[in-house]
Amino acid sequence: MAVISHQVSVISGKVVVLAGGVGGAKLAHGLAQILPPDQLTIIVNTGDDFEHLGLTICPDIDTVLYNLAEVNHPEQGWGRADESFHVLEEAKRLGHDAWFLLGDKDIALHLLRREMLDAGLSLTEVTLELARRLGVIHPVLPMSDQPVRTVILTPEGPMPFQEYFVHRRTKPVMLGTRLEGLAQARATEAVRRALDEADAVVFAPSNPFVSIGPILALPGVRERIAAKPTLAVSPIIGGQALKGPAAKMMAEQGLEVSAVGVARHYAGLVDGFVLDAADAGLAEAVEALGMRAFVTDTIMRDKAGRKRVAREVLGFLCAFIEEDEEGGVFSVQ
Ligand code: GDP
Repeated sequence: MAVISHQVSVISGKVVVLAGGVGGAKLAHGLAQILPPDQLTIIVNTGDDFEHLGLTICPDIDTVLYNLAEVNHPEQGWGRADESFHVLEEAKRLGHDAWFLLGDKDIALHLLRREMLDAGLSLTEVTLELARRLGVIHPVLPMSDQPVRTVILTPEGPMPFQEYFVHRRTKPVMLGTRLEGLAQARATEAVRRALDEADAVVFAPSNPFVSIGPILALPGVRERIAAKPTLAVSPIIGGQALKGPAAKMMAEQGLEVSAVGVARHYAGLVDGFVLDAADAGLAEAVEALGMRAFVTDTIMRDKAGRKRVAREVLGFLCAFIEEDEEGGVFSVQ
């Protein structure tokens, strides 16, 4: 077991982080406090996206953008801080079934996205432009410009992701998932280039099935990642998810609901696995899967906490890259 705490002050490598919403946005925000824009690219899941009220909703992209711009709601895990809901209230008064909440500032961003998409820009171009307008300097890339939609397979039948996640509050049993549109979709050129140029890939502590899973499912992504030093941060702590249905989904699929269960899910693809200090006792079981285990407090409570976890993640990357490759591209000082 390796319990290492490096002080990372100088890093020269390029890092790509794969992210969903909440856990992904927090780690991306931490890394963005340390690495300059030419050394950090965030690839974001679009499997949760859907069309609603004539708008294209990209929950994970927006959560990442809002967090990097530091305008996110502090507790909710979606949407903006200091938000009002006048548009939705009026829509409700006019008969709209407002099961999906969108605040007024959030709607403003969606109107701009609608206009840019209608003008023929790709989702990548729109996302980079929205990022620029929000003052986000790091590249945030949707995994694909073609729609890929996660469908949750339940005993009641297939359910579009947001129907399952928001409308039904993740209550139905998840038997599995299906990715609609996958056959026609590809990772964008920007995503492929970022992965090709990466010195290391980090899987954020995001949902392995509905956040990281869709990114890995795109043709060409797995092979590119397998060729790189890769580290995953566990989204499961003490057998539970901090937020969302990751633990419930693991149980329903007959997987061990623990950090080891997540590590097993990623076995063969990741070289290093970060466990929370609460799960230090599981490090040996993780190493038995053929990956290096690192233990630290992985809970990102505030801005400084995000930076601390990001710093440790980079330290761990340095540690195992240095061991594997003499004079690796990452330097720790
Ligand atoms: P979603 O798209 O909104 O479901 O967001 P993600 O898939 O990115 O995040 C959900 C996962 O993030 C859950 O399993 C949480 O346990 C995990 N998570 C959220 N905050 C933290 C944190 O501070 N530390 C760790 N280790 N995991 C976190």
